[in-house]
Amino acid sequence: MIRTGMGYDVHRLVAGRPLVLGGVTIPFERGEDGHSDGDALLHAITDALLGASGQGDIGELFPPNDERWRDANSAGLLKSAWLKIAAAGWNIENIDCVVALERPKFLPWRPAVRKSIAETLGIGIDQVFVKAKTGERMGPVGTGDAVEVWAVCLISRQ
Ligand code: MG
Repeated sequence: MIRTGMGYDVHRLVAGRPLVLGGVTIPFERGEDGHSDGDALLHAITDALLGASGQGDIGELFPPNDERWRDANSAGLLKSAWLKIAAAGWNIENIDCVVALERPKFLPWRPAVRKSIAETLGIGIDQVFVKAKTGERMGPVGTGDAVEVWAVCLISRQ
């Protein structure tokens, strides 16, 4: 049996917060606003996997009004969601993502980000890909006020 899932996330970029994408902290003068560490890439992946397996969504598992998740490490949240999905017999075939970010340049960080996601999920680096786009200076991404992420996944089980 195979299933696909999709996830989306957007976070405001503000001064005084770290920019964390895929579990990697990227040096920059702004970072994601949010209750957890704001890692929009891991949030989109978490939702894609949860959706594919029909096991809810990230807001349901880790409610943003719950103090337990304040400044939470999103890699920990993803891992905990994935363990729940894997317990139902699912394997990951692949994950593919698009990050829309005006600045800083994401591509130099891609190898580290793919490795970080693969390690969190216990899969191969070749099973995770991340593409980068800018907002072409249009909209909240284009003005540098937001980061947007889309993620899709394919999961399978016997
Ligand atoms: Mg989020």
